[in-house]
Amino acid sequence: LLEMKNIGKAFGDNEVLKDISMTVSQGQVVGIIGPSGSGKSTLLRCATMLETVDTGSIYYKGEPMVVNDTNGKAVYANSSQLKKIRSYFGLVFQNFNLFPHFTVLRNITEAPINVGKQTREQANEIAMHLLQQMGLADKADTYPYQLSGGQQQRVSIARALAQNPDILFFDEPTSALDPELTGEILAVIRELASKHMTMVIVTHEMSFARDVADYILFMDKGVVVEQGNAVDLVNNPQHERTKLFLKRFD
Ligand code: ATP
Ligand code: MG
Repeated sequence: LLEMKNIGKAFGDNEVLKDISMTVSQGQVVGIIGPSGSGKSTLLRCATMLETVDTGSIYYKGEPMVVNDTNGKAVYANSSQLKKIRSYFGLVFQNFNLFPHFTVLRNITEAPINVGKQTREQANEIAMHLLQQMGLADKADTYPYQLSGGQQQRVSIARALAQNPDILFFDEPTSALDPELTGEILAVIRELASKHMTMVIVTHEMSFARDVADYILFMDKGVVVEQGNAVDLVNNPQHERTKLFLKRFD
């Protein structure tokens, strides 16, 4: 579904991604783990075009989003193509990123109405259905500040799902939450996984990553040190750096 090849990215002279490749297949859950500053968020932001890559190529459903020119420099597809591809991606961040001055319902319906060109009735109906799934049907008319962190994160997941994305990307969806609220978000993601939602999840929850992901990449200092089957990688890491990293979570 999504294929990133030999991605390189630097901020000034700080090489943040070095020759990274990642493939996401239909229905697959890919976990990305690694220490702070290893480049996980940057990789996610490059995959979703919130950030541009310097080198490498990205294909979506076999269509080129980014290719290298003869000098090895990344060249992006035209903006209307990119805009279309971007609409297939859903994003959930650490800090929820809800619009504070919109109700819960409007937070979810805003993009489908403005970008997806749904009617307000359609968008409301889909949003209410999603809120019901998230156990938040009674919160439709409240504002984000009136919700707990876990509830806000469930709203932001509903907002991402309302666009009917092909791939849902999560960047540490629980790291701003208390432990007891973390569980409710992980349960929502597990539920999506059981419905074969394609997802890419950056997380510090190792046992969750092992259980919910099919495949895991371990990143350190801008490189993928080790990757493979999730259970194998977490239970039986091969590289010293992976072992050392995972030890902290024992
Ligand atoms: P964490 O687990 O703390 O979220 P991370 O693995 O997500 O870390 P990134 O946020 O991708 O790491 O950051 C990787 C490196 O890129 C860091 O050295 C960071 O300072 C740098 N970096 C990230 N975004 C920018 C930016 N917009 N401008 C300059 N440097 C950046
Ligand atoms: Mg990050």
